[in-house]
Amino acid sequence: MPDDAALAALYQEIILDHYRRPRNKGTLVHADESVAMKNPLCGDEVELHVHFDGDTIDDVSFTGQGCSISQASVSMMTELIKGKTVAEVETLRTRFRAMVMGDTLNADEQNLGRAKALSGVAKYPARVKCALLGWNALEEGVRRHLDVEGPFHS
Ligand code: ZN
Repeated sequence: MPDDAALAALYQEIILDHYRRPRNKGTLVHADESVAMKNPLCGDEVELHVHFDGDTIDDVSFTGQGCSISQASVSMMTELIKGKTVAEVETLRTRFRAMVMGDTLNADEQNLGRAKALSGVAKYPARVKCALLGWNALEEGVRRHLDVEGPFHS
């Protein structure tokens, strides 16, 4: 097991890698939902584009700008949620949220993959909003999708 300092350095490296080489960045021509969110405290902007296939997130991308935490977080999130159902991503969102709020049990969750690199954000309350920006956009996108599908969707 790596010690705390080694783990922190590894996590920092993962965050910077996603910040410098964001995954799934760009628009999505066939997006069903596009949700723009801002974090005025830090100046972060994220617009999440989601294409659904029934209840599955078939494709996802984002555009935006801001600090390394906000942009790396949404980049990691797109990798994590692609191909998952709305129920699965809701579980991931709840765990991720708990993790950045300081729940160490959730920080150990394997399902969060490389997004675990953001567990250190819990020590910096001002950055929690940065880390959650993309996930909040996802929550809104899923909510709109379910609203549209509504009771008429079998
Ligand atoms: Zn920020």
